[in-house]
Amino acid sequence: MAFNYLNLVGNAELVKQLNYAMIYRLIVQQSPISRIQLAEVSHLAPASITKITRQLLKHKLIKEIDVQQSTGGRPAVSIVARTAPFQAIAIQFSRSRITIGLYDLGGELLASEYYPLNDFTQRLAENYLLSVIELFLQENSKKIKKLVAISVVMPGLIDSESGVVRYTPHVKVDNWPLVDVLSVKFGVPAFIGNDVQSLALAENYFGSTQDVDDSILIRVHRGVGSGVVINQQLFQNHNQSTGEVGHIQVELLGDRCHCGNFGCLENTVVNKAIEQRARQLLEQNYPSKLTLENCNIKEISRLANEGDELAVHLIQQAGHNLGRAIAILVNLFNPQKIVIAGEITVAEKVLFPILNSVLNSQALKTFRDNLKIGRSVLDDTSAIGAFALVQQAMFNGSLLMTLLSEEKE
Ligand SMILES: [Zn+2]
Repeated sequence: MAFNYLNLVGNAELVKQLNYAMIYRLIVQQSPISRIQLAEVSHLAPASITKITRQLLKHKLIKEIDVQQSTGGRPAVSIVARTAPFQAIAIQFSRSRITIGLYDLGGELLASEYYPLNDFTQRLAENYLLSVIELFLQENSKKIKKLVAISVVMPGLIDSESGVVRYTPHVKVDNWPLVDVLSVKFGVPAFIGNDVQSLALAENYFGSTQDVDDSILIRVHRGVGSGVVINQQLFQNHNQSTGEVGHIQVELLGDRCHCGNFGCLENTVVNKAIEQRARQLLEQNYPSKLTLENCNIKEISRLANEGDELAVHLIQQAGHNLGRAIAILVNLFNPQKIVIAGEITVAEKVLFPILNSVLNSQALKTFRDNLKIGRSVLDDTSAIGAFALVQQAMFNGSLLMTLLSEEKE
């Protein structure tokens, strides 16, 4: 390959970005931390640490504090992240509503609002989205010191690399260039991503998988989606279309799925499927505290926890099928933790024993032994997944370098 000077310049910029990103992430996740500790953990030269922290200080992204040594004596200077002066708008664009959250860079929710959503064309959806963001910005202007990014997550095939929505179930789109639309309109960097994948990342940054490198989040709602996190990074392929666990076949003679196949997981465990099965059995006078009037997933899950026979059976059946798909994921990825999100997790007393028992029989023993499985601790109807994309851009350095490139007097 011919020597290319431009490549070398490009590489130097990339190395710089990665070094800054690594130091910033260490400060956020391990603060308070001293410059000496930063040099030890990062293996960068002390001079580089001095230079990087000087830039971060100048742009008010970090601050110095005095920490009393445990051995007594002179306090040592440590560094912590400054997150309160920076805000991001995070948006979950779901089938029936838009949830907008205002977060500071530490992931603190400062304000949130819901806006109803109908079936829309791309143009109407775009106009509506822009207008509700404007309204939200106006209403919360006092809480915003410096807006650094806008991020949107939604179900479907979302190409976060090129910033284009390829497919989403509730809006008919034709390669919707949402990142461009948002960044031009609001003058800040914008990010988009798949809602469940982003939630898996949020769980890793702020939730129950913070303590592990490799985890999988599965969300059961209107569909079944998953996000795989490996080495604390989202596992993504060329067009961000991984984790379609909903279409793993779990019943040979199951009903036909909208994807064209038969017996997909989705058709047996999504909220609607469980509610429909409950209704069928109630109509045949199956004894239960559940009634046709309150036949919804929340009530079914609650009654399952209380031991109602019908509700228990329904959750066990769904759990059995979900467990089969999870066992496949475990054998493929060998994660340290599996996290389930969605209304069905309310039935934890019934759901998790059945998932554990299926995993005991269907997952590789050595993989199973090191695996924990539990509930998501995040609110999966909030916009925290969208905020995780902003955090990701700080941690990989792309947004961080944008903030550092701004002139400071
Ligand atoms: Zn299917």
